[in-house]
Amino acid sequence: MAGTDCIFCKIAAGEVPAAMVHQDGDFVAFRDINPQAPTHVLVIPREHIPTLNDAQDPDLMGRMLLFARGVAEREGLAERGYRLVINTNAQAGQTVFHMHVHVLGGRPMRWPPG
Ligand code: AMP
Repeated sequence: MAGTDCIFCKIAAGEVPAAMVHQDGDFVAFRDINPQAPTHVLVIPREHIPTLNDAQDPDLMGRMLLFARGVAEREGLAERGYRLVINTNAQAGQTVFHMHVHVLGGRPMRWPPG
């Protein structure tokens, strides 16, 4: 499954184009194709993990959070504020089953989210 039918695996492998923001050996950050805020970046692990429910490695998950924080810093959002979102499964609205962190910022955010 991983790397075959998964659009985010293909982006991570450079087989599908995306507006890259930052990457390292474990994570890739690219701009969301349908942005919901002035800044809307997706952070994915290179490893194919379908949902947060499938994640096993606490070190990888911790580093993904810090990688996402670094994206927010690079985008100039750290002081103004930003929101990280991980939609998990259908009721939360997950549509791409390669887990990802949405990094959203550049406008005021409402709470609770819809
Ligand atoms: P989610 O609904 O949490 O699964 O988020 C999936 C996100 O991926 C959506 O915000 C989509 O706009 C975004 N998306 C889907 N395909 C692409 C793509 N090829 N490049 C960039 N973003 C994408």
